[in-house]
Amino acid sequence: MAEAVARAIRTGEHLAVQAGTGTGKSLAYLVPALRHALTEDATVVVSTATIALQRQLVDRDLPRLTEALAPMLGRKPRFAILKGRRNYLCLHRLHEGAPEEPAEKGLFDPRAVSALGRQMQRLHEWSSETGTGDRDELVPGVSELAWRQVSVTARECLGVSRCPVGTDCFAERARAEAGRADVVVTNHALLAIDALEGYPVLPEHDVVVVDEAHELVDRVTSVASAELSAAAITAAARRCGRLVDEQIADRLAEAGDGLALALGELSPGRLDELAQPLAGAVAAVRDAAHACITALGPERREDVEGSTARKLALALLEEVHDTAVRLLTAFKPPESERFDVVWVSGGISQDQVRPATLKVAPLTVGGLLRERLFGPRSVVLTSATLTLGGTFDTLARQWGLPPSPVPARSAPGAATEKEPPADDTGSPDVDGPRWTGQDVGSPFEYRRSGILYLARHMPPPGRDGLPPQYLDELAGLVEAAGGRTLGLFSSMRAAKQATEALRERIDFPVLCQGDDSTALLVRQFAEDTPTCLFGTLSLWQGVDVPGPSLQLVVMDRIPFPRPDDPLASARQRAVTARGGNGFLSVAATHAALLLAQGAGRLLRSTDDRGVVAILDPRLATARYGSFLRASLPPFWTTHDPEVVRSALRRING
Ligand code: SF4
Repeated sequence: MAEAVARAIRTGEHLAVQAGTGTGKSLAYLVPALRHALTEDATVVVSTATIALQRQLVDRDLPRLTEALAPMLGRKPRFAILKGRRNYLCLHRLHEGAPEEPAEKGLFDPRAVSALGRQMQRLHEWSSETGTGDRDELVPGVSELAWRQVSVTARECLGVSRCPVGTDCFAERARAEAGRADVVVTNHALLAIDALEGYPVLPEHDVVVVDEAHELVDRVTSVASAELSAAAITAAARRCGRLVDEQIADRLAEAGDGLALALGELSPGRLDELAQPLAGAVAAVRDAAHACITALGPERREDVEGSTARKLALALLEEVHDTAVRLLTAFKPPESERFDVVWVSGGISQDQVRPATLKVAPLTVGGLLRERLFGPRSVVLTSATLTLGGTFDTLARQWGLPPSPVPARSAPGAATEKEPPADDTGSPDVDGPRWTGQDVGSPFEYRRSGILYLARHMPPPGRDGLPPQYLDELAGLVEAAGGRTLGLFSSMRAAKQATEALRERIDFPVLCQGDDSTALLVRQFAEDTPTCLFGTLSLWQGVDVPGPSLQLVVMDRIPFPRPDDPLASARQRAVTARGGNGFLSVAATHAALLLAQGAGRLLRSTDDRGVVAILDPRLATARYGSFLRASLPPFWTTHDPEVVRSALRRING
């Protein structure tokens, strides 16, 4: 892997490397990255999806590596971590900035007010102790509401030259340090902002390593998404209320009420057209926000206090205005040429009433990534899960890369049951950026260490919770494993149903996500061997428990996106309209990624043994089953429940 990364950096080509857990992939990319940075006097950016990996790189891998490589490179390489401005304490806001208005959500309750007061007190104390102002270093953390009082977005920041405490600013210090570093560690969100927004937030760099690259598309999609709600409009109107003529601010507040009324008449779901009265309500919001922005007038440089309030108001107003414009523009092109997907979320669903919100997200981010991320530099993408259906092309297509010109190099033992990839574009584009895929395998002997059990005899999963046969099957497997089970369910409802049923039927403790903080539950699960842990999406990717506490991973159903998921359904429809296989390239790809991530929870060290059991029979029987199975590690596979239960009893000892 190190050689492949060095080659990609040298030739300027892009590289996708799949490297299983325990390969040491961070060392394999950091060594060539550090060498390149020092010999070429350049900066390399390493981007991660999770804070855990960021910490591992900055606290463990980079300190050791820079020490070890210093004699060979002539000096000790420098590294730094850089996040979005919102992640750093803003000293100006802390001491002088305008607090949120008291009508802010949660502040009517006196208990919430005193809890917030205590958190603010802690933040003031912490501000004199911290050397970085980085929110992730504040343990225990504070609520989002409290953090919002002491931080600013890039739009809200006064700018270092105007800010009275600019020389002490934590965000500016982190940026300056990143500017001097050879390697800058950041997250996918900041990488996306740097690439997409048209203004640089990262130091100039010629190589990017995207670790946890299976998360890239989702993270970039969220950065490129926006939403409009009555609450956001009211907050913007309130913020500018004291700075402009009252009538102008009132007009915006009324436009917010109008939007709430129009949204109240709609059910949650995708919008294929912007009909009246919603179109009129969004246009009214756009015009009222524009009037407020005009009324705020230009910045007066001598008035710092006034500038702060103006900047905070302007940031919200611009966001409201720009989102309203985007929503209105989204529907202008013919349906097949639209760039954005719009939907209503919230409202009344599943016994919950949440304020209705209009959301907008890009149909695809491939074009953006291809032009702005892959265009100007060499990109290395890596993860334990990059081949889906046995090929890199599935994810590469989502990144905007053409089909690989050369077949991926595979390590022995890698998934081989390859299906032809679904056609996402209608016509393969062979002129795009050049890239290669390489699977460097894994230290695990999958066939000897793990069994994949496909419960072919089960009924298909139902709409109304888990069928009784699933609960019987689950109980039998958990008994045989002596507990030690991670249950990954496709909905919280199913996780709770299974928890309640098994608590009555087995003697082992069963924890359920939501009983406590997920971190605490995972710790209890790891420390007490027979304990089981059941939950949903965040457990599919976030559990790393080597050893005997985890010997059985059970998944209830293939995790397809919900049929009413607005973005997935729009993406699927767009692929189908272009003559591709929408189901395979959107729904099955989504499911394959999650299945691979879920199955990846089983073997976390080379001594681990166990079973991945999938109760949904469609994995064994449906036509798309082979594509999904080829996305899983190459475990020894069986359909026989008795074989699996005996194996679990043997492992259990
Ligand atoms: S420069 Fe911006 S982020 Fe830094 S202290 Fe000033 S206002 Fe806050």
